[in-house]
Amino acid sequence: MIVVLRPDISAERKQELIAALEGRGLRVDVSEGTRQTVLGLVGDSSELDEAALASLPGVESVRRVSEPFLLCSRREHPESAVVQVGPVRFGGGHFALIAGPCAVESEEQILAVARAVKAAGADMLRGGAFKPRTSPYDFSGLGEEGLRLLGLARAETGLPVVSEIMSVGQLPLFEDVDLLQVGARSMQNFELLRELGRIDKPILLKRAFSATLRELLMSAEHIMAGGNERVILCERGIRTFSDYTRNTLDLSAVPELHELTQLPVIVDPSHATGRSSLVGPMALAAAACGADGVMIEVHGDPPRALSDAAQALDCAQFAALADRLRAVRKAARA
Ligand code: PEP
Ligand code: MN
Repeated sequence: MIVVLRPDISAERKQELIAALEGRGLRVDVSEGTRQTVLGLVGDSSELDEAALASLPGVESVRRVSEPFLLCSRREHPESAVVQVGPVRFGGGHFALIAGPCAVESEEQILAVARAVKAAGADMLRGGAFKPRTSPYDFSGLGEEGLRLLGLARAETGLPVVSEIMSVGQLPLFEDVDLLQVGARSMQNFELLRELGRIDKPILLKRAFSATLRELLMSAEHIMAGGNERVILCERGIRTFSDYTRNTLDLSAVPELHELTQLPVIVDPSHATGRSSLVGPMALAAAACGADGVMIEVHGDPPRALSDAAQALDCAQFAALADRLRAVRKAARA
């Protein structure tokens, strides 16, 4: 961290500041210019509050030169992490294909989709049981029963399952869920993140609509600080001024996150675009730019889906996309 002092700071105040920073266990390299003094802080400054430091008398500005996240920083952990969910691996060259309906709606629905996506080559099954909905009058999932039905599909197909958890109190219900999803709306539910840091299950952390990459990584850091290092990040589109898509898929987040962190990064083109015709092209683009997996919403009868009908692929469309994804992966590796 670099601290620029005001030109009119007194010698006494300067010494006080340096002593206070050294008292925090930091080495302070003092660089005296003709007009101003700059302090270079060497050591772990992750717990220093930039804004508080910048507001101290005699301080003009503060700039971080290293990131405030350590556990998920590639600088600290140069090797790509491989996160394993049952037999499925994400990261370090492993690509995973997740597919399934937005919400679990019935036993017939989830079993039929599970069989179809498995036959098409999916590695994991998705299905929401607790659905965060903008309107309180919309279908909000089958809850515990939805998780039971997802468990049936898991038992029959052998596919590991992912489902969204919305609160700490729901944790006991998620015992048979292989990958716990933190949805975009919960990315900064720090109490939930803290609890998920204490459990022995991998976490799929989705980026909030308006979150910066640093904020996403700080949320991952919250989970990892509790001891759970099995975190997969998911880019699912952010809010911009786009008028034809539900969100804007920030595809450059994939290579950028790969530079910043060792954690695997997957892409959800379904929620990013909100339109089934755009899901395939953006899934292929995600695979081409190095994503460690994609998550696609698939429904046996999209027009009848109880949630997110406009963005669901039918089973045949998904099978065709899965083939093309394999081809793009092969080409990207060549
Ligand atoms: C979902 O994947 O079911 C979902 C609700 O996505 P998001 O949290 O990204 O909106
Ligand atoms: Mn959905």
